[in-house]
Amino acid sequence: MRCPNCNGKDIGKIGVQQYYCWTCFIEMAIVDNRLTVHQVEADGSLSSLDDLFSQEERKIQW
Ligand SMILES: [Zn+2]
Repeated sequence: MRCPNCNGKDIGKIGVQQYYCWTCFIEMAIVDNRLTVHQVEADGSLSSLDDLFSQEERKIQW
């Protein structure tokens, strides 16, 4: 699995179908076989980055 944002492979599992990129500090979750991507803000809230990626880019590539 690669990060859709930085294409890095330094991905950590943080929960059931939830992953974290240690390179660009985004959180990914798998929903209906697609990635949803969130950025963790300084206050701990999540903001969606899904709009930044096309459907194709959010396909899961193992
Ligand atoms: Zn990344």
